[in-house]
Amino acid sequence: MALTLDTFTFGVGDRFAHQAKAQLQAFIQLKEAGVDVTPVWNKSNREHLIIGSEPDSVRAAAEAAVEALQWKGAFHVDADHIQMGTVDRFLKASDFYTIDVADAIGQPAPDDAIQAFVDRHPELVGEVTIPGIDTPFATDGIWLRDVTSQYLLAVQEARRIYRHLVDQLGDSGFATEVSMDETDQPQTPPELLVILAALADEGIPVQTIAPKFTGRFNKGVDYVGDLAQFEKEFSQDLAVIAHAVDTYGLPKSLKLSVHSGSDKFSLYPIIQRCLNAFGAGLHLKTAGTTWLEELIGLAESGEEGFALVREIYGQAFEKREALCEPYATVIDIDPTQLPSPEDIGSWKGSQFVNALRHDPTHPEYNPHLRQLLHVGFKVAASLGERYLQALRDHEAAVSQNVTANLFERHMKPLFLG
Ligand SMILES: [Zn+2]
Repeated sequence: MALTLDTFTFGVGDRFAHQAKAQLQAFIQLKEAGVDVTPVWNKSNREHLIIGSEPDSVRAAAEAAVEALQWKGAFHVDADHIQMGTVDRFLKASDFYTIDVADAIGQPAPDDAIQAFVDRHPELVGEVTIPGIDTPFATDGIWLRDVTSQYLLAVQEARRIYRHLVDQLGDSGFATEVSMDETDQPQTPPELLVILAALADEGIPVQTIAPKFTGRFNKGVDYVGDLAQFEKEFSQDLAVIAHAVDTYGLPKSLKLSVHSGSDKFSLYPIIQRCLNAFGAGLHLKTAGTTWLEELIGLAESGEEGFALVREIYGQAFEKREALCEPYATVIDIDPTQLPSPEDIGSWKGSQFVNALRHDPTHPEYNPHLRQLLHVGFKVAASLGERYLQALRDHEAAVSQNVTANLFERHMKPLFLG
């Protein structure tokens, strides 16, 4: 029996491992408001490499926060977007594994394996009726073969990594997420059904699945796409998940995972509506925007803190192309909309805060500046102890922003409506 996830889990990132307490405070406020949501601290291998940190530090920070605030609920540490080559360093720290198999999508599995899957699943061909979806999916054998050849190797790769985890950890000590979001083409709800059937066949007790949804999920800014289309797809995905749990014996705790889920303000009411309609759970990962709240807190704290923020912006502005490169598919920056470091030299801290804080209704809000700083954490990492000391010196101003951002802008609209 695998570790079972709670109905609602919420992923928070903490690049510099100083805000776990401020983050946990938001979960406490939510609990006081009547909704139990389990915190999951996530940090990908890529982030660890950029910061120069180890997965153990994520667990240490989480445990210290849980201890300090006397949190009695569950919490998890997510090995985010791991693959076979990167998973081992997470084994001691993590009890939640996001198995990223996006790279294997589109690579064909052996023909006999595809044929065996197609033969095993006649129920996926023809009129496929799913409770909760008005019009049955109309499919045929060619479609099923195409979808299977698109995704079967990815599912087999997920099995290989899952079995490795079981060998290392036993099967009771962790929860499994499978992610397919970092790819070009969204997966449609009928494709998700095929993927779930294949995951069940391979014996993977998947508890959260991260498909790629329609529309753009850029880092740290709002959703860009067709809201009606998203609602239809999200709602159908929920129906497909409930159906797959019943039909293929997947864990009852299986739920959707929304990646880069922070700041998607226009989606939260839709997601809440759909979850209520299906009585479904959710895992939502934020996009490491806590570090932007650190900058906001520092800029608010006075001249000394703001000077450091200006220095970080100046370097990020100079190194823009290199910083953006690894995130090219998940950011949209118009360089002509970025203020120059000289411009910012004459700004007050409050003007900078208005540009950076994610309040789309504020006339000074600047999503280009926000996205540049989002990917600019490498600059702060390179400042080392100087940056960390500033966080400690201005802890009150910083933590207030970290907590309020999570609770007011994310949890309230998602869980309290
Ligand atoms: Zn992801």
